Amino acid sequence: MRGVFKALEFELVANTFEKLEAVTSRTQMTLYLVELFKKTPADVIDKVVYFMQGKLWPDWKGLPELGVGEKGIIRAIVLATHARESDVEKLRRKYGDLGTAAAMLKEELEKKSKGAVGILAFLPKAQTAKKKLTVQEVYDTLAKIALAQGEGSRDLKIKLLARLLTDASPREAKYIVRFVEGRLRLGVGDATIMDALAIVYAGSQAFRPVIERAYNLRADLGMIAKILATKGLEELKKIKPQVGVPIRPMLAERLSNPIEILKQVGGKAIVEYKYDGERAQIHKKDDQIWIFSRRLENITRQYPDVQEYAKKYIKAREAIVEGEIVAVDPETGELRPFQELMRRKRKHDIHIAMKEVPVRVYLFDALYVDGEDLTQKTLPERRRKLEEIIEQTEDFRIAEYIITDKPEELEAFFLKAIEDGAEGVVVKAIHGKAIYQAGARGWLWIKYKRDYKSEMIEPVDLVAVGAFYGRGRRGGKYGALLMAAYDPETDMFRTVCKVGSGFTDEDLDKMMEMFKPYVIPHKHPRVDSKMKPDVWFQPAIVAEIIGAELTLSPLHTCCYNWAKQGVGISIRFPRFIRWRPDKGPQDATTTKELYEMYKRQLRKIVEQATPA
Ligand code: ATP
Repeated sequence: MRGVFKALEFELVANTFEKLEAVTSRTQMTLYLVELFKKTPADVIDKVVYFMQGKLWPDWKGLPELGVGEKGIIRAIVLATHARESDVEKLRRKYGDLGTAAAMLKEELEKKSKGAVGILAFLPKAQTAKKKLTVQEVYDTLAKIALAQGEGSRDLKIKLLARLLTDASPREAKYIVRFVEGRLRLGVGDATIMDALAIVYAGSQAFRPVIERAYNLRADLGMIAKILATKGLEELKKIKPQVGVPIRPMLAERLSNPIEILKQVGGKAIVEYKYDGERAQIHKKDDQIWIFSRRLENITRQYPDVQEYAKKYIKAREAIVEGEIVAVDPETGELRPFQELMRRKRKHDIHIAMKEVPVRVYLFDALYVDGEDLTQKTLPERRRKLEEIIEQTEDFRIAEYIITDKPEELEAFFLKAIEDGAEGVVVKAIHGKAIYQAGARGWLWIKYKRDYKSEMIEPVDLVAVGAFYGRGRRGGKYGALLMAAYDPETDMFRTVCKVGSGFTDEDLDKMMEMFKPYVIPHKHPRVDSKMKPDVWFQPAIVAEIIGAELTLSPLHTCCYNWAKQGVGISIRFPRFIRWRPDKGPQDATTTKELYEMYKRQLRKIVEQATPA
């Protein structure tokens, strides 16, 4: 019975991992999760969710990773199975996976002990039967392994892992090893986990939006699952942001015509510089500061200077504000591009880096102040609060802006922004419904960037889902990638184009190594493709792609049947621009955005063809 405290056996989690690995449809994936969550007591639901995400805790916590290298894992397998190191290596080479090696050696050991003679054979069964591992035990031991630091920690980590593997069944050993290696890679998206939670705890998938909203406000799916399981859906509806737990950022749509932009945001709007730096969500509680990146990594330690500014110039006791950290020239104070900030990040000594590349923070939103959740307030209300709590200085101040409903003024401000070293502008709605849409890309914010003016189509961010081998000079290496857009409605990746140009020789040389961890033997269940590449990937790596124009194609599944029956949207003459390591697969351009771009392109063609 759920909720009554019978400890959850880890075997059930391992069984689910095994089933998920073989699954080919997302619906089936959800069903397996439902099956598991139904059997999970509320006190460990958070841990089961983290296991499904392939982690021990959310990345933003900045806690250490497991930190056991391949050699350490092999050593632990040797200790747990009494095999020789060379046997482990041999099996690993044969199956290409240490997890399988561990499982096989465990099986062998079990067979041997079943045939045991001597004292074991005479003991009653209950005494010889091993205790089953529980989720709590496995989690606690793995956490202990991760948190063991400093002198002697390497040996301690190996010993703890060996003990865990000793108690594990072959199947459990396989997944524990893969988890420790960071190679679980089940490809279960957060959306699928939320669907399953909604079914189990609210009775229907239709309640996913409630869970999603809570997750958007506190980006910790384990924590959200636990609140849901222990307090119920009604409590989850009341959830507020919490200082120290990142809020998933609101994102902007894009357009390139000032008239259209103002129409979309409903007339009068705030137009702000779009700074070319790193987005920062700054949290303050008394003297404690956290800084989270766009992808919700904890970047606090990279910015001691920003921490100081926040401590000094945020006048509230508790606050969550957002802004862009921008590199500035130490001599002239002029804005420098994003690459400069990256240069600072690569330097080892942060105190030297801070002097060479000083930064400035331009704030643009306030999401929470002294117990008050501002995310449901309108932008003008949030901005008022921001102005109230910030003591502005040269290095910590509110983003440059104007308020206008005139396209000419918008255009002039856009040009000024570019001259000042910004990327363009972000136009933001200020009407009564202009709330902070955490975790969503919507039309309340519209970005208008410089690159849109120079190319026929805007660059897009697509996810690699497969590769084709090259010929001739590129023989034996990947010559082209199959790229897909993200469809958030169904949580699928749909193909847009095959891109083979724009790569440097160096890109091509590195590509196989780069994609190696993501190669899978069949099409990923979240990928929709008509093309069959030579190699399939788990959707993980994002690249920026540009092309001559958007076209309709029967070969691709993005927006299939939307514009016309039997065809999808594709990119003509696609060209690789660069990798986007700062984006995850779900941050890729969406199918809907591509469709909007396609429609805009059509309108442009019609306008040009129609005599004035
Ligand atoms: P891009 O690749 O264009 O940076 P993105 O997908 O990272 O886009 P979007 O929400 O589409 O994010 O574009 C807005 C981004 O621009 C923000 O994530 C933020 O980093 C940056 N930015 C700079 N200035 C502002 C501003 N005044 N308001 C909002 N975002 C801003």
